Amino acid sequence: MLSFDLGKGLVKFKHCGKEIFSYSLPQNCPICGQPAVSSSNLKDAPVTIPSPFVNGHKASCSFLVKPTEGTFLRDYDGNSDLHVGVTNTTGTVYHYNQTGIHRDDVGWEQCVCIPLIQPSTYGLINQWDRYLDERCASEAWLPCRYEEHCHNCYTFALAFVNYILAAQGRNQLSKSEFTERFVLPRTRRASKYISICKEVAANNFYVLDCSDLEEMKSQEANLVY
Ligand SMILES: [Zn+2]
Repeated sequence: MLSFDLGKGLVKFKHCGKEIFSYSLPQNCPICGQPAVSSSNLKDAPVTIPSPFVNGHKASCSFLVKPTEGTFLRDYDGNSDLHVGVTNTTGTVYHYNQTGIHRDDVGWEQCVCIPLIQPSTYGLINQWDRYLDERCASEAWLPCRYEEHCHNCYTFALAFVNYILAAQGRNQLSKSEFTERFVLPRTRRASKYISICKEVAANNFYVLDCSDLEEMKSQEANLVY
């Protein structure tokens, strides 16, 4: 069972030629027992690895992903069903399922988050909530229209993303384009973070070998958009 505090992030430091993750910086390296930090070497200074999860209710105008049941850190096993939604400007999450459209003010506190607009896009932000309410009123999102695989939470959220793109005169994104460019890099990073958290929870430390390191670097590169 993982403590919710792991959502606050981890610390990574270098010692013995390896990268070591822990909750907080230890006095001594768990491998060799020598002091963990030598002040002389800046490039080996410890860094904080921020949690990839955000409180969706504090993320306005964003696409959110969370497990359908439970939370990422406690319940996600890499294959669990995921559910998605879109926030309005005040952090209410709009989402669609077999019982129709819902507007949640709680329950999305640990999400993978994809911001949909730049904070400087004032004109769009002013219209955002009206657009969202208008789209939700469409008959497309009646409960009877729900299909588990082809007309679901993702269909609703992506239709709204495309509505916003169209309003800005930008190209539409297919499901696979949006998923590969924006969702998968973040869910992969989240899965890696969860697996490191589980190791740290079990052993207090996680020592990363070189192949893991290269994988994480390539994922971090994907996050820049
Ligand atoms: Zn060491």
